[in-house]
Formats: sequence, structure tokens, C-alpha cells
Amino acid sequence: MSVIADNLQAVRSRISAAERAAGRAPGSVGLLAVSKTKPLADILAARAAGQFAFGENYVQEGVEKVLSTTVDREIIWHFIGPLQSNKSRLVAEHFDWVHSIDRLKIAERLSAQRPVTRAPLDVCVQVNVSGEASKSGCAPAEAAALCRAVAGLPGLCLRGLMAIPEPAADAAAQRRPFRQLRELFDQLRAEGLALDTLSMGMSHDLEAAIAEGATLVRIGTAIFGERNTP
Ligand SMILES: *Cc1c(COP(=O)(O)O)cnc(C)c1O
Repeated sequence: MSVIADNLQAVRSRISAAERAAGRAPGSVGLLAVSKTKPLADILAARAAGQFAFGENYVQEGVEKVLSTTVDREIIWHFIGPLQSNKSRLVAEHFDWVHSIDRLKIAERLSAQRPVTRAPLDVCVQVNVSGEASKSGCAPAEAAALCRAVAGLPGLCLRGLMAIPEPAADAAAQRRPFRQLRELFDQLRAEGLALDTLSMGMSHDLEAAIAEGATLVRIGTAIFGERNTP
């Protein structure tokens, strides 16, 4: 077995153990393999080991990888990085998901630019639960209004919320922002938005995220190894 296949198996075991520890159903947490900066060969190794959802952060790099794998109809491509308006068209045309909707303008562009020949683009609203000015994502207080607006746009399907909390030292501190995102998610569902995706948890904190209700964890380093700087 390749290193990547071994790593994938180890990550799947961590997810299963965290599901059990949280009393959640086996298989209730999906795995997004974050392949940014990694070569196509690594993606194909993960694919051969049964992984089919991949996440990319940089538009040009991501589109190249999408175009290199079009023969494989089962791969699902998620765009998870910050998105500039002038690059939205490429994302609307080539990706299946976008996790990083942080303002209405970008959602409106993706909506207008999504080809009618394709299924609606699945999207998550990114929320800044750490309150750091440097991090992307909308303010928690703005999230509900943004979600309602996005839910009404053609060509998009609002699936849920995403967050990238600041690294935290201990498990309790890791869980706090995840809990905040889940409470927002519960509140929006109670208001009638049909959300099913809580995208939170990375290599170092997936257990905390699953304990707080993550339905999709985004894992890079633990599968593909350390990244070179982009
Ligand atoms: C890079 C990245 C990840 C994966 O992070 P790891 O710590 O390598 O698991 C997840 N989500 C986003 C948005 C990222 O940019």
C-alpha cells in the first residue's frame, strides 16, 4: 500500500472513532481530501484508495486538476479557498462545491456564471467564528441574512456552513468555535433553511469538530503530508 493509502486509512479510523465517541451514526461524517499544492499523482493515489471528494484552494491550480481528471466522473471537486470576484467564473464552471461564500456579491456572480447545463453549484457560507480580522468568512451576526439571500439564488444550492477556527491549544478551546457554528446551523435549520452540511475540522482538530456535529471534515496534511509553501 502507498503512504497515501495508509494515511487515508488512518484518517478514516480517526473519523470512525470520533463518531463512536460522540454517539453519532457510523458514516455520518464525510471526508474531503484537501489536495492543494499536491501533485496529480497524489490525488490519483488517494482516488485508487477509494477517496472521491477533493478540495482545492487556488483557482488556477484547482481548475488544472479538474481538467486533468474529467474522465473520472465520480470525483467531486470542492473549492475551499478565498475567492476573488474576477476568478469566480472559472470556479462556477469547473467545481461541484464552493465552501467559501463570505459575501453576497460572490454568490451572485457564481449564480449568474453557473452553466445551465450543470447541476446547481453546492455552496456553504463561511463564517468567521474566531473573530480575527485576518481570517475570511462573514461575521456570525451577518450569517443568517447572507444564508437567506444565497438560498434564493438560482444555480446555487445552499448546503450549509463552513469555518476555519484559529488553532487552539486544548480540546475544550478547539470545541468552542465549532459549537458556535453548529448552534448557528441549528438555528438556521429551525428557521426553515434546508441545510445538511457542517464543514468543519482539519487534520489537527477533526475529533473536536466531530464531537460538535461536523458532517464533513477537510483533511490535507494527515493524508498527503506537509505542504510546500504555495
Ligand atoms: C488547507 C486547508 C485544509 C486542510 O488543512 P490540514 O491542516 O492540512 O488538514 C482544510 N480547510 C481549508 C479551508 C484549508 O485551506
